[in-house]
Amino acid sequence: MTRSEEIFQEAVQVIPGGVNSPVRAFQSIGGTPRFIKCARGAYLYDEDDNAYIDFVGSWGPMILGHSHKAVIERVVETCQRGLSFGAATSIEVDMAKLVCEMVPSIEMVRMVNSGTEAVMSAVRAARGFTGRDKIIKFTGCYHGHSDGLLVQAGSGVMTAGVPDSLGVTAGCTKDTLLAEYNNLESAAYHFERCGEEIAAVIVEPVAANMGLVPPAPGFLHGLRKLCDDYGSVLIFDEVITGFRLGAGGAQEYYGVCPDLTTLGKIIGGGMPVGAYGGRREIMEMVAPLGGVYQAGTLSGNPVAMAAGMAQLTLLKEHKEYYQALNQKGDWFFGRMEEIVEEEGLPCQVNHAGSLGCLYFTKQKVEDYDSAKTSDTKAFAEYCNYMLAQGIYLAPSQFEAVFLSLAHTEEILQKVLQCILTFFLQKV
Ligand SMILES: *Cc1c(COP(=O)(O)O)cnc(C)c1O
Repeated sequence: MTRSEEIFQEAVQVIPGGVNSPVRAFQSIGGTPRFIKCARGAYLYDEDDNAYIDFVGSWGPMILGHSHKAVIERVVETCQRGLSFGAATSIEVDMAKLVCEMVPSIEMVRMVNSGTEAVMSAVRAARGFTGRDKIIKFTGCYHGHSDGLLVQAGSGVMTAGVPDSLGVTAGCTKDTLLAEYNNLESAAYHFERCGEEIAAVIVEPVAANMGLVPPAPGFLHGLRKLCDDYGSVLIFDEVITGFRLGAGGAQEYYGVCPDLTTLGKIIGGGMPVGAYGGRREIMEMVAPLGGVYQAGTLSGNPVAMAAGMAQLTLLKEHKEYYQALNQKGDWFFGRMEEIVEEEGLPCQVNHAGSLGCLYFTKQKVEDYDSAKTSDTKAFAEYCNYMLAQGIYLAPSQFEAVFLSLAHTEEILQKVLQCILTFFLQKV
C-alpha cells in the first residue's frame, strides 16, 4: 500500500469522504487521492515522494508557481509580528488600494475569507441596494456553496430554482432564477417577466466550473445592457478569472464593466482570502456605513494579506507576466487542439488565456448542456494515465486546467507528448 492509501484509510474514518472539499476526492476517476507533502514551482510532491507536474495550482492561486520565494518570505516575516489581532492593520488598506488600482470597476472593496463568502455578501449588497429579492444565475456556473446559489444542474432553463443539495430549503432558492450560459434570450426572458424584481445577475465571465467555456461574443455586453435597462446589479464572479486573465481580470479582458466583482483564490496567494467590491454607492451600503450587515472575525488577516499582497504586487509590477502567461496558454492549448485535429479525436479544446479544458465529446462545448455530453469514463482513463506519467490534472472532466508562470515550455512539451502518446496507444 502506498503512503497516500494508508493516510486515506485513516482519513475516511474521521473526515467525510476523507477530504475537506469534495473536489479533492477521486470519486469520478477512481483511485485514492494523492496526499501532498510539499510543492515547488510547477511541481507537487506526494507523501510517497512522487513528483507531479501540477495543473491545478490550488485551483488557481499558484499563478507564480508554488512556494514563490517573495511570497513565502513576506508571509514568514509577517508571522513574526503575530498571527491575528482582530483590529485594523495598515496592510489591509494597502491591499484595498492595490485591488482598486488593478480591477477597473472596483472603487471600494471588503475582504472576506473565501469565494463563497464573497459571493454571498455581494448578492446581499445587491439586494440591499436595489431593495429587490430575485437574482439570475446561469446553469453550470458555480458561485460557492451558500444556500441560494446551490442551484444549477438538473433544473431546466426558465424554471425557478430547485436546490441541488440536501439541506437547502426551497425557500432559500425560490428567488434564484436560472438562465442558460451564453444564451442571452434565456436571461432576457426573466427580465421581460419580472425585470423590476431582479436585484442582480451573477455570472462567471468565463465559465470555469463546467470545464472551461468562454463567453460567446456579445453575451457579457448583453447582460450589461439588460441590467442597465432594468436597474439591476451586474455581478461578475471573478473568483477564478480575477488576476488571471490580466491584472484587471475578465472585465478588462472582455471590456465589460460589472457593478460588483467577487474575488477569491488568486487574491490570497494561497491563503484563505476572498473579496467583493465595486461601485462606491453600492459598497457604501455595507456595515458599518450602511444597513447591509456583513462581518468576519478573521477577515483581512495580516498573514493572509501578506501572501496576497506579495503575489499581487509582483503581478502588477511585471506587466510582462500576464503577456507571458496568456501566450503560454495560447500556445499550449493551441497545440492540444492541433493534436485533436490531426489525430481526428472525438474531443474539444476550449481555452481563455491560461485556463483551458480538454473535453471528451464530439460536440462543440458552448454551455452546460453541451459540456454534459462529455464521456466522463474516457476522461477518467485519460486522467489516470496522466497521473501515472507524473502529471496531476484536476480529477474531474468539469474542472479547468490551470497554467502558471512556472510551467516552462520544456515542461509543457513533455505534457503534450504524453497526451499524444495516450491517444496513440489507444488505437
Ligand atoms: C471556487 C469558486 C467559488 C467559491 O470559492 P471558495 O473559496 O471555494 O468558497 C466561487 N465562485 C467561483 C467562480 C469559484 O470558482
